[in-house]
Amino acid sequence: MGRLLKYWGWGHEGDGLDSAQTRELLETFRTLGIDVTDDGTFPSLDTLSLVASRLRPPQALSTICTSDRYQRILHAFGQSQPDSIRLYQGDVAHAPDVVAYPKTAEDIQALFDWCGDVGAALIPFGGGSSVVGGVTSDVGEGYNGIVTVDMSRMNQVLEIDDVSHAARIQGGARGPSLEAALKPSGLTLRHFPQSFEHSTFGGWVATRSGGHFATLYTHIDDLIQSVAMVTPAGEMISRRLPGSGAGPSPDRFMIGSEGALGIITEGWVRLQRRPSFKLTAGFRFEHFFDAAKAVRAVAQAGLFPANVRIVDGVELKVNGAGSGGFTLMVVSFESADHPVEAWMSRAEQCCRDHGGTIDVDWKDNPEAHLQGTVGAWREAFIRMPYNREQLTPRGIISDTFETAITWDRLEHFHHAICTATKKAILEATGNPGAVSCRFSHAYPDGPAPYFAFHAQGAKGVLLEQWRAIKEAASDAVIREGGTITHHHAVGRDHQVWYERQRPSLFGDVLAEAKKQLDPNGILNPGVIVR
Ligand SMILES: Cc1cc2nc3c(=O)[nH]c(=O)nc-3n(C[C@H](O)[C@H](O)[C@H](O)COP(=O)(O)OP(=O)(O)OC[C@H]3O[C@@H](n4cnc5c(N)ncnc54)[C@H](O)[C@@H]3O)c2cc1C
Repeated sequence: MGRLLKYWGWGHEGDGLDSAQTRELLETFRTLGIDVTDDGTFPSLDTLSLVASRLRPPQALSTICTSDRYQRILHAFGQSQPDSIRLYQGDVAHAPDVVAYPKTAEDIQALFDWCGDVGAALIPFGGGSSVVGGVTSDVGEGYNGIVTVDMSRMNQVLEIDDVSHAARIQGGARGPSLEAALKPSGLTLRHFPQSFEHSTFGGWVATRSGGHFATLYTHIDDLIQSVAMVTPAGEMISRRLPGSGAGPSPDRFMIGSEGALGIITEGWVRLQRRPSFKLTAGFRFEHFFDAAKAVRAVAQAGLFPANVRIVDGVELKVNGAGSGGFTLMVVSFESADHPVEAWMSRAEQCCRDHGGTIDVDWKDNPEAHLQGTVGAWREAFIRMPYNREQLTPRGIISDTFETAITWDRLEHFHHAICTATKKAILEATGNPGAVSCRFSHAYPDGPAPYFAFHAQGAKGVLLEQWRAIKEAASDAVIREGGTITHHHAVGRDHQVWYERQRPSLFGDVLAEAKKQLDPNGILNPGVIVR
């Protein structure tokens, strides 16, 4: 048997911050005025109070279903801040009754039929890395039980077309295994969300995930040729094409459906040759908005770098990667076809035009991505997913939210979001905490600002404190014209603001589509359509 996944945090048991890294993290929080004395731990599996399963699968499904205690608790939550707080508080009353592991589309159809018959809700589950309550098995009243459908047994790369550079991949394939299967062909999907290791192709399609690459092919949407989705009403398979102008796109309808309309069993994706020419550089800016102007110049120059991130001083400081006195800009170019020096020279000029100075030089420096503030930030980025499991039990709220806005509105938007979030932290916790910003993606017409907030909470009321801050931040994002999510998805946590963002008639159309595909309303209740 492989190593167990943690039911309380990120990755496998045994993975995470060591004691020196934990001390360093807490020390950095102390410099922000967030002081922690009490260690705390997550409750052990045997101390969690779990009610007996309400469902008994029919004989034909019994070999792919389990009501094992560990599996039920593992599948009760994703990776959001409220998920972590609720688990810390031992709140698993809503855990799924059954976890199912289908191997075929027919298994999925049989699970739909069974859930429809017994009035159970069904939650599609990929890697469980949702940070917005997408897999949190909390479906409200009106269901006789909950079945979480874990796609991990449908995890193969089924075909590679090395003429068109495309592959057919099953929904439950996780990032590392799908890239390993593509590697011998010299091709790559080149879609690397930060959660790559523990998220799935089906989850990426269902949530419109955003990869590590900051320009051009940012979302999984851009890499999809066709999608196959099983719904309670039957199967929907779009035609595999390099492009099509035939009416509203069935792909676009299924992409982003977040498990509310069906289960994505497989899809054809566009691949690229693996890059062999790579360059990275780091630049420092005294002011955040000068760095933003440099990003805009690069984005509008048509250079399409693989990476063009800016990280403000607070975020560098929180992650032990800088003093807090400057904004870092990381720029990378890569190609499978041609050297990229000319592109990098032009990007450097854009940075210098806006006051940027070299942090890490790119010339004759293949190790640039490991050096200086760029390297320190990269290290922190890799460790980041493990921070929360150290922070929640110590009563520290630490969360992120991301959005997008056009360049003309950026400065006002950034100011309004930071002000609203800081005010909410102070009101909810009595302490100023910290708010930081980086850009995760950049387009010619605007960036995707990615905010983080950190606050010293009080253990008994952590959830209420988090909710007050989250609501204020989300209200500000919608009020000021941004999107409630650029790539983290809607889930249960963003549904209210998603409804404010989308045209109401579009919401009505989605509700009608759901009735057609999911007539018993069993699929992921509370997500996308209520
Ligand atoms: C540390 C960390 C870093 C992250 N970084 C990124 C990032 O860089 N970019 C990004 O976009 N997101 C990121 N996320 C969020 C998350 O990883 C993405 O939303 C990801 O796409 C979810 O994939 P998953 O397989 O884990 O799906 P899950 O979390 O299992 O499910 C997410 C949603 O999709 C539905 N779903 C899952 N599989 C299917 C399927 N086969 N068919 C239909 N519906 C399905 C679920 O019901 C749920 O609504 C991060 C999360 C964490 C914890």
